[in-house]
Amino acid sequence: MSATTLEKPLTDSVRMERTPDPCVMVIFGASGDLTKRKLLPAVYTLFKERLVPPNFSVVGFSRSPMSDDEFRSKMKEGVDEFGGGVDTATWQKFAAGLHYISAHPHHPEEYAKLKDVFSDLDRTLGTGGNRIYYLAVPPSSFGPIVRNLQSAGLAESEKGWARLIIEKPFGHDLESAKALNRELGSVFQEEQVYRIDHYLGKETVQNLLVFRFANGIFEPIWSRRYVDHVQITAAETLGVENRASYYEEAGALRDMVQNHMLQLLAMTAMEPPVSFEADAVRAEKVKVLRAIRPLCSEDAAHCAVRGQYGPGRIGSEKVVGYRQEPEVNPNSNTETFAAVKLHIENWRWAGVPFYLRAGKRLARHATEIAVQFKQPPLRLFDGERALPPNLIALRIQPDEGIALRFSAKQPGPATHVRDVTMEFGYASAFGMASANAYERLLLDCMLGDPTLFSSSAFVELGWSLVTPVLEAWKQPARDFPNYAAGTWGPAQGVPKSWSGHAQAVFPYCQA
Ligand code: NDP
Repeated sequence: MSATTLEKPLTDSVRMERTPDPCVMVIFGASGDLTKRKLLPAVYTLFKERLVPPNFSVVGFSRSPMSDDEFRSKMKEGVDEFGGGVDTATWQKFAAGLHYISAHPHHPEEYAKLKDVFSDLDRTLGTGGNRIYYLAVPPSSFGPIVRNLQSAGLAESEKGWARLIIEKPFGHDLESAKALNRELGSVFQEEQVYRIDHYLGKETVQNLLVFRFANGIFEPIWSRRYVDHVQITAAETLGVENRASYYEEAGALRDMVQNHMLQLLAMTAMEPPVSFEADAVRAEKVKVLRAIRPLCSEDAAHCAVRGQYGPGRIGSEKVVGYRQEPEVNPNSNTETFAAVKLHIENWRWAGVPFYLRAGKRLARHATEIAVQFKQPPLRLFDGERALPPNLIALRIQPDEGIALRFSAKQPGPATHVRDVTMEFGYASAFGMASANAYERLLLDCMLGDPTLFSSSAFVELGWSLVTPVLEAWKQPARDFPNYAAGTWGPAQGVPKSWSGHAQAVFPYCQA
């Protein structure tokens, strides 16, 4: 079974409702990986699709020496390799708006160069005094850069607006997250700060709210009365790649659970907001985190599971264990798998466990939210055989879509019941690939819409929730590595089976 496919694919005009103001986007750390791999391909696509106005410019700001032309050709390589490639005529127009300043972002005197470029662009291109500062630099540079912007008088714009985008990690623990928020808050107003959580830019995550609140039939059953439990999984087949120095300090709980997974949980569990204005949506998400029963360090023993991958196979490829990865401590205590069980203590969700799990080098690449419903009160069919309960699986990535599992009579003279799945797939239903998350988020920032960005309150509550587990996990794990690469993680966190969409429950969920 599948959802009906639209006769005509959607066009771009369906997607565009507002046009952003002209602006200059300054990327600090423009010589780095993120700029080339994600940011410029996204900005180029927005330009090509005329989702940003022609009087739009990108200024790279980092220490590496580069001329404007060298910067342009490096960015073109990025769009060719990581974006959809370039069309020459469009690229030439786009590239004319790319500039580069080779300067140390920690040195206040260098900001005079930025001021000069701004005046030039406002005059010649008509960028209207509007600025976005994108900090694609290590977090240790956030403080010096915002202070320098302030002392150069660039944190506010006399003629237009100024916004700041930062990338995670938003702190390493609660104290550092609070310190970061204080630091940013001493220069920028909260509404000027856009904290990127690229999960929120995914169509499938945004669709979660549409699924829940634009349909009349799901919301009445979306509660403790009908839902048995919810599983939110982010499984990667990739290992630590080239991020070992960051990951060794972070681990799966900080890298995935404290931010992305709590965002997914909040969107799954939140109450309908009074409107889809940013403040209303973000306030409801914060309320969910406030309602989560705080964990204590003893809970880490039975409500949280950690794992670290050993050698194994991903498909047919043999892969090394985490401790054998380049730049990883051979005795590392860093978890590459984390699972936690949380309870939301409000009228809607009391008694319904939410299981969050994230891991590297697992058996399949899949991010999904599985809402499992209670069994019917009586088993009328197939004797005492337990049929799989109804389940709604929201597939965030890949193979984006939604599946509903229910029971059906198998054809034949006897009444044999089997579970079947009704599927909705984005690609087949809408005939278009979903937009890249960075495209959506950059566009929203240009439009001044922070709905899909993390608020300071959400970030701090997220850290408060995971702190007891982080504390408990400072103790070395004697059983690491405790899962082979290419499996479903350590025994306590492994679903019984997994096919197509989550069919299983955590073994400890039944306790
Ligand atoms: P990089 O390590 O490639 O650094 C980006 C740039 O920052 C470098 O090119 C460098 O430019 C500048 N930089 C590095 N160290 C310093 C320093 N001590 N002082 C001033 N500038 C410095 O990072 P990425 O591009 O991969 O990522 C940027 C940020 O985004 C990081 O904070 C990262 O954690 C975060 N992030 C990245 C993701 C990704 O997919 N890459 C995903 C999620 C978050 P130069 O030497 O020319 O000054």
